[in-house]
Amino acid sequence: MEGETDLESRHRSVTGRIAAACARAGRAPDAVTLVAVTKTHPPGTADALVRLGQFDVGENKVQEAKAKAPQCDGRLRWHGIGHLQTNKVRDAVRLFCMIHSVDSLRLAEEIEKQAAAQRKRISVLLEVNVSGEGSKFGLKPEEMADVALAVNRLSHLTLRGLMTMPPYAEDPEAARPFFRRLAALRRDAEQRLGAPLPDLSMGMSGDFETAIEEGATLVRVGTALLGERRAWRTAAPEEG
Ligand SMILES: *Cc1c(COP(=O)(O)O)cnc(C)c1O
Repeated sequence: MEGETDLESRHRSVTGRIAAACARAGRAPDAVTLVAVTKTHPPGTADALVRLGQFDVGENKVQEAKAKAPQCDGRLRWHGIGHLQTNKVRDAVRLFCMIHSVDSLRLAEEIEKQAAAQRKRISVLLEVNVSGEGSKFGLKPEEMADVALAVNRLSHLTLRGLMTMPPYAEDPEAARPFFRRLAALRRDAEQRLGAPLPDLSMGMSGDFETAIEEGATLVRVGTALLGERRAWRTAAPEEG
């Protein structure tokens, strides 16, 4: 049995750790937004988060978000955090307030097309493969600034910053160089754009405090907040 008190104490613990990391880094406590990653958890979990004042939630699959969001409190803000196929963009634009995982100009252009059709402006982040791992999605660091310039010209997209996923490691310190690299890449892109990029989406359950020390403004936390992933499944077909 998972009572809401468990969720409440984990939420209190994570938000407390975020505040402490902000204090260590000399950053304001509201400089970081917690995105609760609800993937694999049932709609009731998202509603329970609302009762704790946690409105930002993240999903990595469009199909799952599409099935879940209509069953949930309408005040939730859904973030798209996983790799996005172009045939899912229409739903993604409808569902999400922000897409963290734009990893090609072609994808950005498809988001532009669908957002224009829906008369909607959507916030996006460019995902950068900072580690160069072949298994990871994301732009190459050296191509990111050119893509940022092009995306910045798309009128229905608001380019807010960058996102990354460092290689998996037990030790959060192992992620620090990758977070630092993303922060440096943001500074390069800001210079090229001549405009600020306010957001860095980096840090998950195992390393969000390190990410905050390196400048994260959005941390995507699943298991530390919600426990082990479940098997909440949709009737919809699997993502292909
Ligand atoms: C699942 C997921 C997370 C959260 O992972 P945890 O380790 O459970 O906190 C963050 N970002 C992305 C892109 C994810 O898919």
